[in-house]
Amino acid sequence: MTTHEEPVDSILETIGRTPLVRLQDGPASVPIYAKLESFNPGASIKDRIGKYMLERMLERGDVPAGGTIVEPTAGNTGIGLAIAAEQLGLEAVFVVPERFSVEKQQLMAALGAEVINTPTEDGMDGAIARARRLADELEGAVVPQQFSNPLNAEAHYETTAPEIYDALEGRVGAVVAGCGTAGTLMGIARYALEQDPQTHVVAVEPDGSVYGELLGDEREEDEYKIEGIGTHDTATNELFDPELVDAVSAVSDRDAHDELVRLAREEGHLAASSAGAASVASKQVADRIADGDLDVPHETVVTIFPDSSERYLSKGIYRSFEDWTS
Ligand code: PMP
Repeated sequence: MTTHEEPVDSILETIGRTPLVRLQDGPASVPIYAKLESFNPGASIKDRIGKYMLERMLERGDVPAGGTIVEPTAGNTGIGLAIAAEQLGLEAVFVVPERFSVEKQQLMAALGAEVINTPTEDGMDGAIARARRLADELEGAVVPQQFSNPLNAEAHYETTAPEIYDALEGRVGAVVAGCGTAGTLMGIARYALEQDPQTHVVAVEPDGSVYGELLGDEREEDEYKIEGIGTHDTATNELFDPELVDAVSAVSDRDAHDELVRLAREEGHLAASSAGAASVASKQVADRIADGDLDVPHETVVTIFPDSSERYLSKGIYRSFEDWTS
């Protein structure tokens, strides 16, 4: 289920069926498994939604054959959509806030997409507004809009979640995952709660992000360095359903950075900052289960490592914390 042993005809057929690897840190009695999404052809979890959203949109006639997609993205979604667009005969234009990694933008361009930058200070909201305007101007252009498109979460409900449950033969007690659009967590959570309503679901966000407020927690909005997760505004949290989530765990840039460095040195994982944050939060959940503080149907935690650190080398991800954040 997690291998690609048969020859296939298209890169799209290599998306998904990623490995699930037990982390070596954390309490001995409560295994934590990380699903390594960097094994996808575009090296991130977003290949799944690129393929899934565009195939469904073409089937439904939401985008015309040979049409153009315009998407606001931090980068990984752009790469995933660019791969799928190329294979499905669509043009792709991406609107990316300047602060996001140059590797991602180069890869989108390499895949034949057009990349347009918006100022960092306008945030993801600025990119979303620009993408909408562009789509209005371009004939046959559509915005898949990962931040509000239910197909985003559905991709994970249909692929990521069943892969996890098959691999662990249903023994999942807690699901811990970072929330950017929240598509990953929402899709997995919906599936998990259908298997067992007692499954503990934890969203992970950076310190400074405000997802926690949707569960009534206090949050102070601030900048953060962790890339790919967190929200500052309502335009980027539309998919997040508080009803499916038991807790929102906020992780600092420093803890995420220390953990991604440790994951490389001690466990051989080239994990990036959102994976570092997910790992920190997963260990906290596993510790609580081990201490008998949390009632879960199985003493197993599952988390997601969405992409690879290689994509952030130019941002100094493996330099000291001070260098990385300066
Ligand atoms: N980590 C990284 C590196 C990402 O690019 C994303 C997507 N923005 C996420 C985590 C979060 O995934 P989702 O959008 O499904 O919440």
